[in-house]
Amino acid sequence: MIAALILALTGSLAAAPSSARSASSTTYVISLAQPAQHLVQVEMTLPAGPAERQLQMPVWNALYQVRDFAQYVNWIHAQDRSGKPLAVRQVNDSLWLVSGAAAGAVVAYQVYADSAGPFGAQLNSHHAFFNLAEILMYPVDARTVPARVRFSGLPQGWRLATPLNEDSDGYWNALNYDRLVDSPVEIGTFAESDFDEGGGHYRVIVDADAGDYDMEKIVAMLRKIVAAATTWMNDRPFDTYTFFYHFPRAPAGGGMEHSYSTAIDVNAEVLARAPDALASVTAHEFFHLWNVKRIRPQTLEPVDYARANYTRALWFSEGVTSTAADTILLRSGLIDERRFFDDLGGDIGELEGRPAHLTQSVEESSLDAWLEGDAYYRRPERSISYYNKGELLGIALDLAVREASHGRASLREVFQWMNQNYAKKGKFFPDSEGVRQAAEAVSHASLEWFFSKYVAGTEEIPWNDFFRTVGLREVETTNTLADAGFIASRNFDGPMVVEEVTPGSQADQLGLRAGETMLAIDGKPAGEESREELARLKPGDLITVKVRGRRGGEHELKWNVGSRQEVSYELRDLEKITPEEQARREAWLKGEAQGATAAAGSTGQ
Ligand SMILES: [Zn+2]
Repeated sequence: MIAALILALTGSLAAAPSSARSASSTTYVISLAQPAQHLVQVEMTLPAGPAERQLQMPVWNALYQVRDFAQYVNWIHAQDRSGKPLAVRQVNDSLWLVSGAAAGAVVAYQVYADSAGPFGAQLNSHHAFFNLAEILMYPVDARTVPARVRFSGLPQGWRLATPLNEDSDGYWNALNYDRLVDSPVEIGTFAESDFDEGGGHYRVIVDADAGDYDMEKIVAMLRKIVAAATTWMNDRPFDTYTFFYHFPRAPAGGGMEHSYSTAIDVNAEVLARAPDALASVTAHEFFHLWNVKRIRPQTLEPVDYARANYTRALWFSEGVTSTAADTILLRSGLIDERRFFDDLGGDIGELEGRPAHLTQSVEESSLDAWLEGDAYYRRPERSISYYNKGELLGIALDLAVREASHGRASLREVFQWMNQNYAKKGKFFPDSEGVRQAAEAVSHASLEWFFSKYVAGTEEIPWNDFFRTVGLREVETTNTLADAGFIASRNFDGPMVVEEVTPGSQADQLGLRAGETMLAIDGKPAGEESREELARLKPGDLITVKVRGRRGGEHELKWNVGSRQEVSYELRDLEKITPEEQARREAWLKGEAQGATAAAGSTGQ
């Protein structure tokens, strides 16, 4: 229907239906014939249009980081429909201009793809996984026309999974480029399962060693998560949803949300040791199908693929997605109350332990997301995490809405209101202001104080003012912890880098310096698990690190770790809990407004 409409509007004259479709759409053919070299060949057929055509390679996608995907484009050339070469002139590092393309053009280019994980594009001898924006350019004048893609040169035995729909010609079809690149593709010898739940159909694609996971357990977990989430939102804006999982042996981790799917990597060792890590990231990514993909900040629309997209709303789109994920895990029984309280205490400790919580607001942290690749920016004195403070603000906002509405509304009503008033109407919300309007609409009270102090501002959050309403208080205890004398962290796929070294510490005296690469800690490659390794140390323990200096050269350092005082936070019951506080707490832990149980019952909960 839409393709026909565009034909009518552009007045294209087409002899046959099949050529009519290709004339009004951008067609990509992606060759996987060189997997060992990680080389992907793309042939892009442009629809008829202006003679001069700009071709843009996105500079960012999947992560809020500029990664300049054009760096991997080895060469590009173009020809017209009859095979005559057309001039291709480079305009900047990510933009090309093709001339003489009024009747359409065929553009060919080669791109290197070897970035592993849910945020990458990779072709190797084992499989291919693509975030398509990292390998596909788009014609700037025709980004909104239908896009279709076909894959050729697949190695023997490889199959393909994507949320896109396939037509009878073997093309996967999308409404436009944006929808195309919101649809990841896994090609290889993956395992697959599927199930139906609450009227929705779900596919599970797993690319991992068969001994590293249990498909039945994953499906059982997914059933609980999707049932709890769709019931909580009272909505299921899709027919089919796909979960892509990779459980690599290499250090890895992360999840990426899409409108009709998610791609999640969990290290195989982590999965074996802490299977609930999978439930936690899955609930977060699944909830994103509403919050950020459909309940979407105006500042992210339309997406600007050519430069960083600044938004103040990531505290809500990411952090409060984690708050909602906690509720989903509680409602589905995948975590219990004690675990929820313990995690909450840990989250408070993480925020309070970063001196930057007094200098950087959570909106500023959202704007600064684009700096997260830099180790200096990740220092506790420099930045806070919009995930961490956003998740806590989700908790505080939930409690504030309940208090302001005398228990009649909650975070659930805030999300449902935003779903009805923005997502369902095809509108985008005006960042923090839009969240405030929604929270005020459901609680019938002004929440200006909340947003000015804690969202736009850096005031200390008075935890007990919020927790008191549910009969809890926050208790601070000071503990003596091991202190290795340095902090290290890594960008999503980068090496572990030393952020800072405590002046005067053993590490400092031995010459460890900020900016150096941490290769190994106690003989184990530095990676995701290093944080846990460091947390297990006791004062006096010997630590051995292997380091690469800023100008190259590797060396090993050994010392006995020191100690430091750290405040930890715990949620405990108030000495006397009133029946009102008890009732409020029960509703809060269910993620429901008070008196909402009857209404929830009618949706089958
Ligand atoms: Zn997220």
